[in-house]
Amino acid sequence: WREMAKQVAHEIKNPLTPMRLSIQLLQQAYKDKKPDMEQRLERVTKTIIEQIDTLSSIASAFSDFAKMPKASNERIDLCDSLESVIELFRETSENTSFEFEKNGIGEAFIFADREQVLRVFTNLIKNAIQAIPDEQEGKVIITISRQDDMFVVSVKDNGTGIDDDVIDKIFVPNFTTKTAGMGLGLAMVKNIVETASGRIWFETTKDQGTTFFVALKVYEEQ
Ligand code: ADP
Repeated sequence: WREMAKQVAHEIKNPLTPMRLSIQLLQQAYKDKKPDMEQRLERVTKTIIEQIDTLSSIASAFSDFAKMPKASNERIDLCDSLESVIELFRETSENTSFEFEKNGIGEAFIFADREQVLRVFTNLIKNAIQAIPDEQEGKVIITISRQDDMFVVSVKDNGTGIDDDVIDKIFVPNFTTKTAGMGLGLAMVKNIVETASGRIWFETTKDQGTTFFVALKVYEEQ
């Protein structure tokens, strides 16, 4: 926790200095009655807004991570949860198409915290989208199937794949290859899945894509 807090403080401090500096420069330009004030204002505002968004996402990632332990389990339909996450991404993603293959499964009852289950798949799908280069047409395929007493969900992307040298690190808190990443997503996902006695693993091929698998226990009614 101490390490994590240090890292968060560092991530927050990083953008503060350039933010302060650019406001000061803007203030000076105003005092000097610089002729291009409008462009300056435009530029500085844009940068500051971007920095604020970064800070805000760092704060949410950290607080999501901190909120973790209290699971309030109930009988939930995994298909239903997946559908609502996928729908949300469909509405908000431009260059990516989403498919949901249910393999004949109508309802998939598990005993889990709905909020946490949504978080798991939101994270996996968000990572899938982010792994796809901007200039490429994205395709994310989500499947659900039943294997003995487990439901197995897969989230497959046609992104960059995961480099060999980082394969061992991706579930480690703080590990990220993204400039604005916090590296808490997969650590949290793994924690949630394993706390619910599930399993998570992945397969990846460089430049072809990655598939994450999550297995969760079938809830048999008494
Ligand atoms: P973040 O998204 O903040 O980087 P995560 O813990 O969710 O944190 O992911 C850690 C790292 O794992 C990412 O920075 C990325 O390098 C790698 N990763 C996760 N999912 C994928 C994926 N679908 N394809 C390629 N790399 C991935």
